[in-house]
Amino acid sequence: TVGQSILEVDAIDAYYGESHILRDLSLHVEEGEICALLGRNGAGKTTTLRSIASTAEPEVRAGQIRFYGHEITHMATEDVAVRGISLVPEERRIFPDLTVEENIHVAEVVRNRSNVLGRNISFDREQMPDEDLYEVFPRLEERLSQKGGTLSGGEQQMLAIARALKQNPDLLMLDEPYEGLAPQIIQSVEAAIERIREDGTTVLLVEQNAVAAMNVADRCYVVDQGSVVFEGTAEELRNDEETRQRYLGV
Ligand code: ATP
Repeated sequence: TVGQSILEVDAIDAYYGESHILRDLSLHVEEGEICALLGRNGAGKTTTLRSIASTAEPEVRAGQIRFYGHEITHMATEDVAVRGISLVPEERRIFPDLTVEENIHVAEVVRNRSNVLGRNISFDREQMPDEDLYEVFPRLEERLSQKGGTLSGGEQQMLAIARALKQNPDLLMLDEPYEGLAPQIIQSVEAAIERIREDGTTVLLVEQNAVAAMNVADRCYVVDQGSVVFEGTAEELRNDEETRQRYLGV
């Protein structure tokens, strides 16, 4: 059920070095919804996801980000992950020489290695059982021993999502999940995203393909020059021709 807001981005300003990218940007994500962040190339969508995930860059210099009411701004990126936010970056970062199964379980490998190195990273989240994962991605189950690098683009995208989902996040953030995919493949990724939401995970996605994103999203934000210029339901955005043409070119 959709309702309570679980993520609040409150008037943030974010920078890469001296480049001021996000300006007074605010948004929220409600529990159980699929929320889409749309906008032109360079509008600041990826920067917004990276600010939430607290990656090394950008630097958030003003405003606050809260998850389930707790401030997470400036928290270490692993701590944000442990709290239940997973980001699937645009580049997907599949390990080409590891099998599908090893790619999915790579967090355990990292944990074991970090323990060996004496760096005590606590991964105290219960992982998603493989059976549940393969119900969402049956194609991956058929390819467990295939090398990641030999998968098709769509399969690699599914693998990247599956790896993030393995950590059982409360909020799954997807950066351009449809990028470079043929229309039928987009449909199967779309079906997986819907299934993930049905299973109770909230989704925040960034897309260049506004039409496909409006199909799957409940609510949408349009970002332009680092600020939110539209907030509404997917239905409202579909009916708002001026906003669509001006900021999305569709
Ligand atoms: P795209 O779909 O092209 O990724 P976007 O809306 O996700 O678009 P961002 O990647 O957030 O846009 O980029 C916003 C602005 O920040 C752009 O002007 C980009 O050139 C700049 N930018 C992104 N990454 C860096 C970086 N590491 N250093 C400096 N500037 C950056």
